[in-house]
Amino acid sequence: MVNCSFCERKAVYVNHLNGRAYCKLHFTSYFERRVRRTIRKHRMLGEKEHIVVGVSGGKDSMSLLHILRKLSRKNKNWRLTALLVDEGIKGYRENTIPALKIYAERNMVEYKIVSFKDYLGLTLDEIVSTGREKGLPYLPCSYCGVFRRYVLNKAARELGGTVLATAHNLDDIVQTYLMNVINNSWDKIARLKPVADKGGHEGFVPRIKPFYEVLEKESAIYALVNGLVEPGYHQCPYAEYNIRFTIRKILNDLEEKYPGTKYGLLRSLEKIISLIENAQKTPVKPFGTCKICGEPSSHPICKACMYRFELGLLSP
Ligand code: SF4
Ligand code: ZN
Repeated sequence: MVNCSFCERKAVYVNHLNGRAYCKLHFTSYFERRVRRTIRKHRMLGEKEHIVVGVSGGKDSMSLLHILRKLSRKNKNWRLTALLVDEGIKGYRENTIPALKIYAERNMVEYKIVSFKDYLGLTLDEIVSTGREKGLPYLPCSYCGVFRRYVLNKAARELGGTVLATAHNLDDIVQTYLMNVINNSWDKIARLKPVADKGGHEGFVPRIKPFYEVLEKESAIYALVNGLVEPGYHQCPYAEYNIRFTIRKILNDLEEKYPGTKYGLLRSLEKIISLIENAQKTPVKPFGTCKICGEPSSHPICKACMYRFELGLLSP
């Protein structure tokens, strides 16, 4: 077992890029410093904010909640609310919700749990089986991603949030980047930025991704060494249908053989975004309003309403 590069304690993490090893204590300050730097660099938070943190009860989002709680305790003008969207995935989501409840109650953090059932009338499990009965071609993660973003934005707005923080880490970002390269979706790549402003729509709660530059492995270690989640791994039963699952595995293999692969991809993404923006002359296309539900949308009818219509949850 390696010792910490800064003290005599046992290391919990070795950064293969800078060659340094970190004990629990030094890892915690290393990780928090990196996140604070990302927040500052991208001007994610202003002087007065009501930060709504999108939480699933998993390692990444519990780490994000913990760091933002620490920061907001030092800033009296920041209010913090954790928001969990329960998609209704049997055998999975009920295992992660307790982590949020225990943490929030112990640390007096305001939190709210909303569900697909409340906002859409069906759980994700019911949506998936309805879609299958109707012969729709969509994968569970497609419904889940679209409806989760829809519900998160609505619920964050109802809470009065000025900004919505999500725990997307560097791994998530570069996985999405590669998925969009495969799908030739360059407009979606242009949106993979650490910050998204209102985009010209009052109904859109600005997004920030404070973990944009930290690895999934690092945010998982932070959650474990700070006792934010129980050790163990909960995997969504639908994950294996998603191409992301395969890309994640390939990227992890590459990173192990060639450390720095993921950072390299992030730098490539940043370059591509600026090339797309320069080519378009304007940053990213602003949002319009969905003709059916009135929510922000980049198409005349938002994806959530399109799915609801196809699932028979909307009358024509
Ligand atoms: Fe939703 Fe897919 Fe993630 Fe499961 S794996 S929570 S279905 S996005
Ligand atoms: Zn809509």
